[in-house]
Amino acid sequence: MADTTEDGLKILVVDDERDIREGVERILKRMGYQVFTAGRGEEALAVLENQSVALAILDLKMPGMDGMELHQRIRAIDDQIIVIIITGYATIETAIEAMKQGAYDFIPKPFEPEHLRIVVRRAHEKLRLKQESERLQMERARTLMDLDTEKSRIRTIVEALPTAVVVTNTAGEVVLMNPAFMNSLDLDASTMVPGQNLCVYVPDPGFCEMVSNLSSGEACRIGDAPTYELTVSGSKYLMARGQSVINENNDCMGAVVTLSNITSLKMLDQLKSEFVAKVSHELRSPLSTIHEQLAMVLKETSGHDSDVDQHLIERAKEKTHGLISLIGDLLDLSRIEAGGISHNVQPIQVTDLLSSIVDFLGIRATAKGQSLTFEPADEALPLISADPMALESIFGNLIANAINYSPQGGKIVVKAGKADAGHISVQVADTGFGIAPKYHEQIFERFYRVKDDNTRYITGTGLGLPIVKGLVDAMNGAITLDSDVGKGTTFTVTLPV
Ligand code: ATP
Ligand code: MG
Repeated sequence: MADTTEDGLKILVVDDERDIREGVERILKRMGYQVFTAGRGEEALAVLENQSVALAILDLKMPGMDGMELHQRIRAIDDQIIVIIITGYATIETAIEAMKQGAYDFIPKPFEPEHLRIVVRRAHEKLRLKQESERLQMERARTLMDLDTEKSRIRTIVEALPTAVVVTNTAGEVVLMNPAFMNSLDLDASTMVPGQNLCVYVPDPGFCEMVSNLSSGEACRIGDAPTYELTVSGSKYLMARGQSVINENNDCMGAVVTLSNITSLKMLDQLKSEFVAKVSHELRSPLSTIHEQLAMVLKETSGHDSDVDQHLIERAKEKTHGLISLIGDLLDLSRIEAGGISHNVQPIQVTDLLSSIVDFLGIRATAKGQSLTFEPADEALPLISADPMALESIFGNLIANAINYSPQGGKIVVKAGKADAGHISVQVADTGFGIAPKYHEQIFERFYRVKDDNTRYITGTGLGLPIVKGLVDAMNGAITLDSDVGKGTTFTVTLPV
């Protein structure tokens, strides 16, 4: 395509009258154009062979090849060239005919230089607009092509990802499922039907619920990617992690879910638990023996004038006691993990159990100048089926925490009552230090302890609440807490009857 910048634009002027030819050339050169001239049609065609001309100004009446014929020959060579006809009044009709055949405009002779300038400028503008619109059209075509390539590229990348990925639409139907995903779930690619609901392939209710929540508009959320653990054929453990897909208008478009194989982690976890259980078990009896022997030494030497430093032995006895209770906690955890808390299940009246725990721990509360009271329900509570050791561990831990994390003179109240149909609830409320909301989840993690000025000097291992939660979960119950920093905390346990 010819260059349309003023300096670059090439114009061919063809006229047998030398004066006109040179006059036009002068005017156009002054306008900044590059001008070629020819006195005859053949000469003009020779110029066109070497130059890419954008505009041709032709005289209609020339000896030999006339302007009409030249116009046609030019169109045959390059129909993009804009042709302007110069004509005398006698040939105006022919000029009109030439325009019908595609000439752009005509200038009747004789003409003023300004007339020529106006017509050429207009032709130049038309050329510019045409090129601009062609450029835009090409750009659009390229953008569409880019989009298309991008789409197929993303698809190819997702297909090739070693990570299992599935994408659903808002209805939870599969839009894209990569081979790694099918492999993870042992799915056969040949049985896949496009557009099926993901639940058809992964019939796990928890997984389906997570995916449909993430996919549908209502529960659509971005940020925390919820996880779900699922088992395939009993021996393969997978961790699903999902996220809503949201467009620029914040509309939910569906969900993207990845799977990772956590079987080896699970095995390792199990090995670790077994190891901890074994070591704890092996440590317990020698430690208990040492503890008892220290107690005996203390008893035998108390009141006597002896060389034994009573204070040191007292400290050693306290430390062994701490270790024994840590080992007890670890063994409890192992038992919960191994699902061994349902060995000794029997019908239990929670009211009786609670009042005996409160009696037992009352001594510790009194020693700290605290009041520990039990408020039983007005009516007799239904019995629950549970392992009494598990219940003792749950409420013992909660009440011990209430005592530990309340200052001198605190008030601790244990309440039991009926919750909704089929459940009883037990509340342990204290007027202690309270727990800031940001710790409400972490305190149920193993070994997590809140460290602040209030708790710094209180000893513990951070295993109490994880044990409580493990036991409550295993009994299909629930535990919640409500706390006001500086005012107190209430833990509520609900258990099925
Ligand atoms: P242990 O394993 O001996 O029970 P611990 O009491 O530190 O150790 P958890 O019972 O799991 O461990 O409690 C975890 C943390 O939660 C505690 O360290 C404490 O910071 C906080 N906490 C628990 N109960 C209360 C409570 N009633 N009031 C204030 N903080 C509490
Ligand atoms: Mg505790």
